Amino acid sequence: MGEKVVKSDSEWRAQLSDEEFRIARKKGTERAFTGAYWNEHRKGTYVCVCCGQELFSSDTKFDSGSGWPSFTAPLAQDRVSTETDRSFFMERTEVLCSKCEAHLGHLFPDGPRPTGLRYCINSASLKLKAKDE
Ligand code: FE
Repeated sequence: MGEKVVKSDSEWRAQLSDEEFRIARKKGTERAFTGAYWNEHRKGTYVCVCCGQELFSSDTKFDSGSGWPSFTAPLAQDRVSTETDRSFFMERTEVLCSKCEAHLGHLFPDGPRPTGLRYCINSASLKLKAKDE
């Protein structure tokens, strides 16, 4: 899928807010129930805050109760990549944007049907392109 987007930290800093930079470029996590989208119900497409790649559809968004926007699947499998994250004495699966390597969040095997997966994503790594906008 297309070419990768590679930028320096100073370039990313120039286009992102401090919070977006800390989370998307430095593998941070927003506090639960504080992000823009955990309780978002508008229809539309969630794109990467860094490179604009379309990542998730509102059609797969569900209320997980976690305080982070949660999805059962990406828009297409090649939109995200995953890596094993062993930080904080846990083994988790990190989810990244496949085009620019932005940290998006983590993937857990406790989601609802049909996939049984929960993509637990930081609002700060996303921008919603709402259908009525
Ligand atoms: Fe990206």
